[in-house]
Amino acid sequence: MKIILFGAPGSGKGTQAIVLSEHYKLKRISLGDIFREEVKKDSSLGKEVKSYMEKGLLVPDALVSKVVEENLNEENFILDGYPRNLNQAKTLDKILEKKGESVDAFIYLEVDEPTILERLTKRLVCKKCGANYHMVNMPSKKTGICDSCGSELIQRKDDTPEVIKKRWEVFLNENKSLLDYYKTKNKLIAIDARGNKDIVLERIKKLL
Ligand SMILES: [Zn+2]
Repeated sequence: MKIILFGAPGSGKGTQAIVLSEHYKLKRISLGDIFREEVKKDSSLGKEVKSYMEKGLLVPDALVSKVVEENLNEENFILDGYPRNLNQAKTLDKILEKKGESVDAFIYLEVDEPTILERLTKRLVCKKCGANYHMVNMPSKKTGICDSCGSELIQRKDDTPEVIKKRWEVFLNENKSLLDYYKTKNKLIAIDARGNKDIVLERIKKLL
């Protein structure tokens, strides 16, 4: 099974990627994790990625594609954080076509603005490994400390209601073409992503 998981920041995408990969025995491929790992190793790829991030730029599509292709060797996987735009979606199709394969489903975790606001204004992020927590719904075991790596948890400076609302609008505008692309291909599965992770998983299981 080859699945893409897609959703706005605050849709619970990262959490659901882990839950789904465990349930369906899929290799979770997170582009964010791969990049963080390479930066930490200070590899040539890591250096390149870092140079874009330090300038506040997005990593270019061509470099992203190369990394995806190198990491897409599994029979069963769930892609988290890729593709992010129509161009990347088409590239992904080409990469898979070369191997005679294709994506089985594009799962879109749908949320509304109140949900996003509630989740992101109370979100905590690990400074070191990037793990996400929620002050109320998903607190760490020790307050302010990451469960997986023991580093400090912080609130992102841009997780304010004003910025979140702005980001949400941009997200909706920018992703219409991507959603339409998978809809036309009959791969789009839209899931109501409000509620806790178990409820959302049940909804996905029913439709997948
Ligand atoms: Zn951590």
